[in-house]
Amino acid sequence: MRLVGWEDGGVTVEAERETHRADRVLVTVPGPLLGELGFSPPLPAGKVRALLQMRYGNGTRVVAQYAEREAVREAIGGGCFTDRMPGYVMEQTAQQPGDSIVVSGLAAGDVEPALQTEEKILDDFDQTLSTVVGRRLRRTFGCVKNWTKDPYSRAVVRAPLGDQRETVLPVISAPVGGRVFFAGEHTDDRIGPGGMEGAIKSAYRVAGEILAEA
Ligand SMILES: Cc1cc2nc3c(=O)[nH]c(=O)nc-3n(C[C@H](O)[C@H](O)[C@H](O)COP(=O)(O)OP(=O)(O)OC[C@H]3O[C@@H](n4cnc5c(N)ncnc54)[C@H](O)[C@@H]3O)c2cc1C
Repeated sequence: MRLVGWEDGGVTVEAERETHRADRVLVTVPGPLLGELGFSPPLPAGKVRALLQMRYGNGTRVVAQYAEREAVREAIGGGCFTDRMPGYVMEQTAQQPGDSIVVSGLAAGDVEPALQTEEKILDDFDQTLSTVVGRRLRRTFGCVKNWTKDPYSRAVVRAPLGDQRETVLPVISAPVGGRVFFAGEHTDDRIGPGGMEGAIKSAYRVAGEILAEA
């Protein structure tokens, strides 16, 4: 969707090829993208400020397959933390047949290789794993997924700073005009990352809000 109209008497949602009319709308796009949607009339200034203030976690997922299954498994077990890129790696082929091993890692926060090419990121990943294992590894496949740059996500999870859980999140999640409702991970106030549980909890909360208005 691109635009939400919330005039008196109903809502209008404009998508790329269609326009929908309804009594109410529930907006669940990720928090970083919410501020890029059009609203007519505009969202209240306090809500826009809260959306701009909220902080989000960044991250790039790296997945690689190596030929040396036993050596890697012996070195990392089910997974291990590193002081390089990525911050931790996990074995993804436990109890699967085959001679190769698939290892994944999430390079998040300060170690996210935001400005590097995928090739360089995979080379650095190889280097980290080779150091852990103690010999040069042979990568047979690799892929990189930057969630911070993904146009439909732009983040991994919300990461409220200081008292933002109490002061900013309630403003972000509050309905507008009795017609526009908000749910999704970025609207939930559980401690720590909202994650999938936070997203589901927000659905229960917003269902109650909509029923109260109906
Ligand atoms: C690499 C990574 C690892 C993670 N690991 C975990 C984990 O281990 N445990 C955990 O609990 N959580 C984890 N999370 C977080 C979890 O995936 C999210 O918190 C959860 O998916 C958020 O759900 P949501 O419904 O709020 O948003 P999303 O699942 O992001 O859904 C939002 C949807 O809106 C769509 N959208 C965006 N813009 C528009 C638009 N303009 N119009 C229409 N649709 C639009 C998107 O395509 C998307 O489908 C991880 C996230 C990442 C990126």
